Amino acid sequence: MCCRQECPITKLCMESIDISNSDESFQASSHEFYFPNMCHICRCYGEKNLVNLKRSLKRCSACQMISYCCKEHQVKDWSTHKEFCKVICQLKKEWNVNNVFQSVKSIALRNVGNDQDMYKYHSKSLNKFSADLTRAVIEILQRKLKKIEYQMIMFPRLCAVCYESNPELLVNCKKCPQATFCKEHLNDSNHESECLKIIKCFNTVKSVFYRFQSFSPLDIMMIQSPYHPAEKKLPSSMLKFIETRSSTDLSECGNGNTTIASDIKSTVLNRFLSDRFSRVFTILFAIEKLSLNLQSMVIHVVGANQGELLASDWELILHYLPNLMKLELIFIGPELFPAFKQLNQNCNLCKKEDRKLFIEANRKVYHEYTRGDNFLKPDMIACFHPGFHVHDSWKKSIKVFSKGQCPLLVTGVNTIEASMDKNFINFTFPSAKCVYYDYNPFTYISYQRHDIYVPIGANNQFMHLYKFLDKKTASN
Ligand SMILES: [Zn+2]
Ligand SMILES: [Zn+2]
Ligand SMILES: [Zn+2]
Ligand SMILES: [Zn+2]
Ligand SMILES: [Zn+2]
Repeated sequence: MCCRQECPITKLCMESIDISNSDESFQASSHEFYFPNMCHICRCYGEKNLVNLKRSLKRCSACQMISYCCKEHQVKDWSTHKEFCKVICQLKKEWNVNNVFQSVKSIALRNVGNDQDMYKYHSKSLNKFSADLTRAVIEILQRKLKKIEYQMIMFPRLCAVCYESNPELLVNCKKCPQATFCKEHLNDSNHESECLKIIKCFNTVKSVFYRFQSFSPLDIMMIQSPYHPAEKKLPSSMLKFIETRSSTDLSECGNGNTTIASDIKSTVLNRFLSDRFSRVFTILFAIEKLSLNLQSMVIHVVGANQGELLASDWELILHYLPNLMKLELIFIGPELFPAFKQLNQNCNLCKKEDRKLFIEANRKVYHEYTRGDNFLKPDMIACFHPGFHVHDSWKKSIKVFSKGQCPLLVTGVNTIEASMDKNFINFTFPSAKCVYYDYNPFTYISYQRHDIYVPIGANNQFMHLYKFLDKKTASN
């Protein structure tokens, strides 16, 4: 994501295993995690489970933020929880509120202009609320937040529809550990699909622990790379691809540790394979949608970070496009490590056929890159969940997208984010021709919570694709 360093909140959004340790406001060292409607000690959640266990969730009555399935578990956690709890109680007093999240509902209720303004306003002001609360807590604590404290601020127990915070008016979802509803929004139909994603997210977060305990990262990296598809037709979806891969890959990793449950193994693998293949297939899918059939291709990946560059099996693009002899992938973004350009050739087959993959990194914002000497005209621009609407520096960069006179691919972590970014594009380029705006079949198969406004998402879950941005420059 471009310019994430400008924005303390987006930088912290991911709860994933890739959380950087260099964040100023919290330490990501522990394997702890927080869901509002799960016992913080034994991690049980969901009505059925609780009934089976003959337990029920109770919240800490002082801060109302953390749940336990029994007195014993609350007592066990008190020595850890009390410091944070006292800070929350102090803030409640200072702000003269019953609940520190009380003002969230009124922020979300405020009406401002059209849909675009509204999305922007809500996401900005809710992010600001979280940032202010984070700062206030840090100020009293005089130390960084622990990961779980940070998650308590970012993923609070509020009505999933209206952000009601009064615990007396709230009822938990019977199935997942995150969602809560006020009585008015109790049977919110939108939650059904979200609920499954939240449970998958819970499993992913839980499996992080096992990833480090039982899987050697090198072990996983060894899995046949680069990958050679048996046929050149794209799989129908990421899930289909992963299903066919998992059976072989599962047996190859995990240090032969048979005690790891297979659902944990597959959660870890889904996460890894998503990282490795989601961006690559998303680009291939866009190329297919645009019916591009080029012998030589330049793709700009804009707002890229080092993880995107390193994690993916980029050579796979060549393996699916037999006519493509030369592919130049140019990564541009201020978060990249210092610039380099290299011939990236891993496989003998490509060598034999004299097909070349060049990878180049430019640690710059895009409008600076396009002014530079090494600017190479792209055949496609790709932005993976860029958050155009969040970071002001995109304004300048987006304007020069039309310099490439080429198709643009943008992904978002969910429909809200995608629609905000799409509005941004439409505003800058009123004659942009959008040829695809829908869920991306090659989304990550692992979900993450982001913030109060984007409760659950998956990388590249939604995508929009433009044939051209500017009619005039496109037809010139
Ligand atoms: Zn418990
Ligand atoms: Zn408490
Ligand atoms: Zn509600
Ligand atoms: Zn649910
Ligand atoms: Zn190859």
